Amino acid sequence: MSDLILFWHRRDLRISDNTGLAAAKRRSPKVVGVFCLDPHILERDDVAPVRVTYMIGCLQKLQERYAQVGSQLLILHADPVQAIPALAEAINAKAVFWNWDVEPYSQERDRTIINALKEKGIEFLNQNWDQILNSPDEIRTGGNSPYTVYTPFWKNWITKPKANPVETLQNVEGLTEAEQEIAKLSGSLTLPSAKDLGFIWDEQLIISPGEAAAQERLEEFTNKAITEYQEQRNFPAVDGTSQLSAALKFGVIGIRTVWQATIEALENSRSEETAVNIRTWQQELAWREFYQHAMYNFPELADGAFRDTFKNFPWETNEEHFQAWCEGRTGYPIVDAAMRQMNESGWMHNRCRMIVASFLTKDLLINPQLGEKYFMKHLIDGDLSANNGGWQWSASSGMDPKPVRIFNPASQTQKFDPEGEYIRQWVSELRSVDTEYLVTGKIPPLERHAVGYPDPIVDHKIQQNQFKLRYQQQKNTS
Ligand code: FAD
Repeated sequence: MSDLILFWHRRDLRISDNTGLAAAKRRSPKVVGVFCLDPHILERDDVAPVRVTYMIGCLQKLQERYAQVGSQLLILHADPVQAIPALAEAINAKAVFWNWDVEPYSQERDRTIINALKEKGIEFLNQNWDQILNSPDEIRTGGNSPYTVYTPFWKNWITKPKANPVETLQNVEGLTEAEQEIAKLSGSLTLPSAKDLGFIWDEQLIISPGEAAAQERLEEFTNKAITEYQEQRNFPAVDGTSQLSAALKFGVIGIRTVWQATIEALENSRSEETAVNIRTWQQELAWREFYQHAMYNFPELADGAFRDTFKNFPWETNEEHFQAWCEGRTGYPIVDAAMRQMNESGWMHNRCRMIVASFLTKDLLINPQLGEKYFMKHLIDGDLSANNGGWQWSASSGMDPKPVRIFNPASQTQKFDPEGEYIRQWVSELRSVDTEYLVTGKIPPLERHAVGYPDPIVDHKIQQNQFKLRYQQQKNTS
């Protein structure tokens, strides 16, 4: 009889190009998957219904994939620290395999589980780096330190070999009926819906759940939009980016598969101009890795500012301003359009993420941690490393060599939404307003009131000076 290997899926909701799962199959033909709905995560106050809905959809697809290849994906809804070792023991698993993660919570949890497995005499394999192309240990400065600046990180990272996709799980043995009964007694459940878990999202998802949809999106993007990415990625009204972020966050597509698609696109590119566009997209994948390495190397990032100047920054506590920002009622059309896009669709264009994060921190002088949490509560792709990295970059509190960066909402609109198309899409009351007013933000008060659009809640110029003043004072004292 073959040894049973339990493969614990976490942020790798796929059976293709999954390093830990492929290792499990190499170890034994009998491989069964498990996913644990972790109350420590689901009961946090920053969980987005849209994200849970996508995740549950992906789990449903993953169960179908397991069934197609002859095995099962079991579902637990309990603290994994007890539930994973207990299930492994109950079904007599020889070993538990999983892929390593960069997040502080996961690492601590995994260490506890390793101890529990050891006590039960169950083997484990957890050292597979699956969600990134190069491990944090591979990418170090000449002095063997982790990078804290993106550009030198990228220059080093791009020279390092990247692995090819690993083999898809197939022809496996699953649990017998008797073993499935034992798994049930040990907590294995029918997959609940997001609604069963208390998360309601009735809008369309920007990407359909499951491996096939992610693969299709990748092919669609690398066949076309990638060749104009460098320019088009900046315009929120244009479908110029991949919208693969949720699939990458949950590992619904393997990062090696994504990388290989960029290499093929480069090989097929007929001009240097096309190649430059493809390389620009590769650089975005490198930003993703940069922030994951940063979280792994500096777990304290999750708790607050990286730079000393921002550790005790005198942020404002203005609940009215914060609510106006959250609800897209600041009176700044581009900011409001972006916040409404996120609230209504569960996703926001990258250019707009930078604009609204700058607005919250540099115009409203509100603590970026509040914005970071609000994003987590609403994004389908909400991811600790990328979100924290994006917020710290926008707030100037993180890993950005430029000391202070302030976005002017009007000039950002003039450059990136010059016809006000994006604004009109999301701020319905502004649809009839002249483009000139929309892009300068200078909508005459009478017209604002006539269409029911708020006056600007602050003055950008005054607030920007106020921010600089506070920054200087902090810098002098820190
Ligand atoms: P594409 O432009 O097609 O890029 C491809 C992939 O590269 C993305 O799917 C993503 O995985 C990665 N990527 C691109 N840009 C970045 C970046 N700046 N940092 C890290 N990874 C990047 N991204 C998230 O995945 N989750 C978040 O919670 C998140 N929060 C953010 C918060 C702020 C304040 C900012 C400024 C950025 C944030 N980002 C986050 C990064 C970026 O906005 C999104 O990854 C991107 O908009 C997703 O769209 P896309 O898949 O079409 O990206």
